[in-house]
Amino acid sequence: MIPAMARTLLVNARIATMRAGRYSMIDDGAMVAEAGVVSWVGPRELAPTVKRGNDEVVDAKGALVTPGLIDCHTHLVYAGNRAREFEMRLSGATYEDIARAGGGILSTVQATRAASEQQLAREAGARLDAMIAEGVTTVEIKSGYGLDVESELKCLRVARGLARGRNVTITTTVLGAHAVPPEYKGRADEYVDLVCGTLIPRAAEGKLADAVDAFCEGIGFSPAQTRRVFDAARAHGLKIKLHADQLSNLNGAALAAEYGAVSADHLEHTDVAGVKRLKAAGTVAVLLPGAFYFLRETKLPPVVALRTEGVPMAIATDCNPGTSPSTSILTAMNMACTLFRLTPEEALAGVTTHAARALGLQDRGALEPGKRADFVIWDATEPAELAWTIAGRKPISVIPTPRG
Ligand SMILES: [Zn+2]
Repeated sequence: MIPAMARTLLVNARIATMRAGRYSMIDDGAMVAEAGVVSWVGPRELAPTVKRGNDEVVDAKGALVTPGLIDCHTHLVYAGNRAREFEMRLSGATYEDIARAGGGILSTVQATRAASEQQLAREAGARLDAMIAEGVTTVEIKSGYGLDVESELKCLRVARGLARGRNVTITTTVLGAHAVPPEYKGRADEYVDLVCGTLIPRAAEGKLADAVDAFCEGIGFSPAQTRRVFDAARAHGLKIKLHADQLSNLNGAALAAEYGAVSADHLEHTDVAGVKRLKAAGTVAVLLPGAFYFLRETKLPPVVALRTEGVPMAIATDCNPGTSPSTSILTAMNMACTLFRLTPEEALAGVTTHAARALGLQDRGALEPGKRADFVIWDATEPAELAWTIAGRKPISVIPTPRG
């Protein structure tokens, strides 16, 4: 006889299921998971929770339970830090002073190129562990600080490898078109040739990437160059994401929508026409309040239009050394509320249901039958508490789906 598959029975829980992107609370709830997949969730008195021999019973003792959190936009793999540049700027140094002193993105590129895979894994692993400690069970990681083929592939390998020994799902994104590397200065089109002709094909062949992203901006890549990157992504069956309209409106949102991107990210300068294109394409708007805060931006993303049009809004840390040196998804939720005026419910949907969709993952993001049973027990009663506090909150426990 085949023994019955071990089940996890969650009892005595206030469950914010996040079904359909709403709290969808079950005040005195229970959940059954079989082989890491939710098979039943609902009020405790209706629960099919008669314990079988090898079932694991998790008693939440009346505490809040949410789906595992998802950080859908990070640049986690880099070496070194930019604290000196931060200090120089606050001591009155100009952008040129900082560049002359070896600061800026190119300092991160140099450090990342020089670092071994072990060193990168150690530094990025510490950041990842901080995220996991806050209840994150899925993280997207972009390359983009290597900016040559071997260094970019190295960063993607490191990102993939970070899942080993940790209960977390990592998805990876090629962001070769993040900046023009110094050796291609003034030859951006030739660098895009390299990204499209060599980097993306090799990342795809090596199964090192799930998606492709680009920085479409005056100081990044033009819409025409971004199209070439997207065409290469399509040719290799990779999902598409875009850093769009962060510092100016280059109609990046519309471009992302045209290519059926899973997400368009930043969007501070996106107009209503761009929002309507996102809606029509089913593209998720990923809001990144950490960068907005750190850069002291003033142009707000079009939250009211996104809400009115019904575009799903995700929130992420944008963890990166230059513009958002943060590993805290909970702080990003708070900032999305305080800076962008999202409701706490929208903020929680932004790091669960909608974040899953921003990665093209249909199997997670809500606690409902058929979805992965990654869940977090919080020292909280109301879900709004998660976005309300600024820092310091830690889950009571994180119960990820066991990895095979
Ligand atoms: Zn970013």
